[in-house]
Amino acid sequence: MTKTYDAIVLGVGGFGSAALFHLARRGVNVLGIERFGIAHDRGSSHGETRIIRKAYFEHPDYVPLLHRAYELWRELEALSGKQLYWETGLVLSGPPRGETIIGALEAAGRHGVRVDAMTLADARERFPLFAFAEDDAVVLEPEAGYLKVEDCVATHIEQAQRQGASLLTNQTVRSWSVAGSRVRVVTDKGTIEAPHLVIAAGAWSGAMLGRIGVSLSVLRKPLFWHDVSTPDWRETSAFYFERPHGAFYGFPSVDGQTIKLAEHSGGVPVDDPLTVDRGRHDVDLAPVHRFITESLRHVSPQPRRHAVCMYTMSPDAHFLIDRHPEYPQVVFGAGFSGHGFKFTSVVGEVLADLTIEGQTSRPVGFLGLERFGTRNAGSN
Ligand SMILES: Cc1cc2nc3c(=O)[nH]c(=O)nc-3n(C[C@H](O)[C@H](O)[C@H](O)COP(=O)(O)OP(=O)(O)OC[C@H]3O[C@@H](n4cnc5c(N)ncnc54)[C@H](O)[C@@H]3O)c2cc1C
Repeated sequence: MTKTYDAIVLGVGGFGSAALFHLARRGVNVLGIERFGIAHDRGSSHGETRIIRKAYFEHPDYVPLLHRAYELWRELEALSGKQLYWETGLVLSGPPRGETIIGALEAAGRHGVRVDAMTLADARERFPLFAFAEDDAVVLEPEAGYLKVEDCVATHIEQAQRQGASLLTNQTVRSWSVAGSRVRVVTDKGTIEAPHLVIAAGAWSGAMLGRIGVSLSVLRKPLFWHDVSTPDWRETSAFYFERPHGAFYGFPSVDGQTIKLAEHSGGVPVDDPLTVDRGRHDVDLAPVHRFITESLRHVSPQPRRHAVCMYTMSPDAHFLIDRHPEYPQVVFGAGFSGHGFKFTSVVGEVLADLTIEGQTSRPVGFLGLERFGTRNAGSN
């Protein structure tokens, strides 16, 4: 007999794993379908760590969502007995009138997030591994830190399954369609139907969402692990520096031997996420090399290893969370534009709200399709 489900989650990476968990937790008989394995390295949720912070320079309206995201990460840790979040603090540095410093101070001020604006002398004394520029401002967010990215995905899935969720891995969704009150999902192995569909397909969102009136583009993003020559790298904060040649970020050492570094700005467009170039090229390394030379101490300029990840960009670099413009029973989260992971916990909850109740009390209105002039299928 064919198994029936109340909802299907298409793609069980960062956001899909969280949606699977929140749906299952609320008693929905849910199935996740994933092209690869659990917490794999072929999409956008791999590479050991992701920064989490609240002084959100990209837009202050994200901060209320972040309050809830932190609560949910703590809840998931309590439920699973695993540490997922490390509160290391985050050092922001850049021009005093640059978007990072101004935006972080504005978001923090508006929403009561603790940040410490440091003098250059204090910053140099407290963070001797960073070489701040003479005319830079430095802001510390002490309650920021990092999430262990693969552990978060795996834990959401594990807890979803404990609550009764089903999962099909190594199965690719080819297409979906709506027939009456049911959504029919065709995979490379069969057809499955349910009244609701959640699309969380990451770099494949453009192809999986069909016509939503907004185009998404994918960028290739290399990450590098560099040797460090002092154990002090274990004890420092995560960091994000706005520099004249780009924005760069990194993490304290997780293994005591290397640190992970990457450039947030830039990125080469990807035509097909399945065949993204995973090689290591000098042109990728050059900006990171320069950042190390100018801004960090006791870090080898040559990487020990690298990985390649993808950003899925919306036109304004803000998320897209909504119901499908043509089908109210299809909800989606997409276009997370390289800064979404910290939100997966709360967006999973929002996607569950939209699926179960058709609405959410979380303030995600600014992330809807309407800002691009497209109305979702539930709009009056
Ligand atoms: C290098 C890098 C650094 C980042 N740093 C940060 C950071 O510090 N802080 C932060 O908050 N965010 C950060 N981000 C962004 C964040 O990691 C992403 O926004 C987030 O992980 C995206 O999750 P996702 O669920 O959209 O994509 P994914 O995790 O890739 O999940 C999509 C899933 O859908 C599956 N799928 C797609 N199509 C199909 C199909 N047809 N059939 C079945 N399965 C399918 C894929 O296999 C995949 O598992 C970073 C991203 C990158 C690449």
